[in-house]
Amino acid sequence: MEHPENSEIYKGLTVNKGIEQPSTINPYRRFHRSNKRPQLSVGEYVEGIVKGNITLLSQAVTLVESTLPEHQAIAQEVIEKCLPHAGNSMRIGISGVPGAGKSTSIDAFGLHVLEQGGKLAVLAIDPSSERSKGSILGDKTRMEKLSVHPKSFIRPSPSAGSLGGVARKTRETIILCEAAGFDKIFVETVGVGQSETAVHSMVDFFLLIQLAGTGDELQGIKRGIMEMADGIVINKADGNNIEKAKLAATHFRNALHLFPAPESGWTPRVLTYSGFYGLGIKEIWDMIDEYIAFVKGNGYFQYRRNEQAKYWMYESINEQLRNSFYQNNRIAAMLKIKEQEVLEGNLTSFTAANQLLDTYATLTHKQ
Ligand code: GDP
Repeated sequence: MEHPENSEIYKGLTVNKGIEQPSTINPYRRFHRSNKRPQLSVGEYVEGIVKGNITLLSQAVTLVESTLPEHQAIAQEVIEKCLPHAGNSMRIGISGVPGAGKSTSIDAFGLHVLEQGGKLAVLAIDPSSERSKGSILGDKTRMEKLSVHPKSFIRPSPSAGSLGGVARKTRETIILCEAAGFDKIFVETVGVGQSETAVHSMVDFFLLIQLAGTGDELQGIKRGIMEMADGIVINKADGNNIEKAKLAATHFRNALHLFPAPESGWTPRVLTYSGFYGLGIKEIWDMIDEYIAFVKGNGYFQYRRNEQAKYWMYESINEQLRNSFYQNNRIAAMLKIKEQEVLEGNLTSFTAANQLLDTYATLTHKQ
């Protein structure tokens, strides 16, 4: 309604229309009282996730990432109940050194795949996140368009623990996302070493982003990482960098010929593109589509997923044994003594290890 002072008789005086006063109670407040939030039941989480409820999905992922045993217990039950609804997706690993253009590219790839329908989750494994307290990888602001897309879910890297622990949590998050109907999963990692192996062990297609350099780009990249790649893409093929990118692609193609043929029967391809200008994005996605059809046809898709499930079973055993061993107070005290004896040359490393393991076995046997 117009303000009465704005009527004709109040000449020379106008009162501007005010804005609506915000509520005195922050409507989002209740979402932040995570400590006081009544704990939902496993069934409520699962039901919400399967219905595609993003708030419940996020909360369940937080439980997966939590180090509290009671959170872990609920998380494991939720994961188990989500398993029958999971698995129906394309899992793509994306790796590249910082500055290679991962965020720019994921934004572009993501928008492209979402144009074809479906839902996309972007997860990350960043082993350095423990140090930086909160990962830069997966940070929503880096993927400007994708982060506001209603069909996308972007989650930064879990931040606590060893690489194995971080990777396990990401793998469990994949299951939750799939149960929530996300049929495309991107797992991003920085191309600096070990974390590639972890990502490779949970995806169907491993995409390596490279840049054209001065011609010696092949020297900086580890053989093992190249061998993992199902596709290598040279980014920033735009402006006067196009020729250099093409040349780099030729170098990579030649280098790939020197490796033994991959188990999948697929010949890894090398493409050039520009994430920033959106050039060659369709071709990359077509390649991934073609790969998935190829490995589904020859049975390798399921074989690789089975191998990965097995691998993660052993990884979990290793992680739990290691934690249980090193977190045992008696062992921790004994470790210091044995370490000293080894340093002084009074005991061989092997004998020290055996004595510690024997003690551990006795201690756990008594429990
Ligand atoms: P990340 O560290 O791998 O995530 O890389 P970013 O996506 O943040 O990109 C690093 C820099 O490269 C940014 O300044 C981008 O604008 C730029 N960049 C990314 N993709 C392209 C591209 O296709 N062409 C050009 N010319 N620059 C790009």
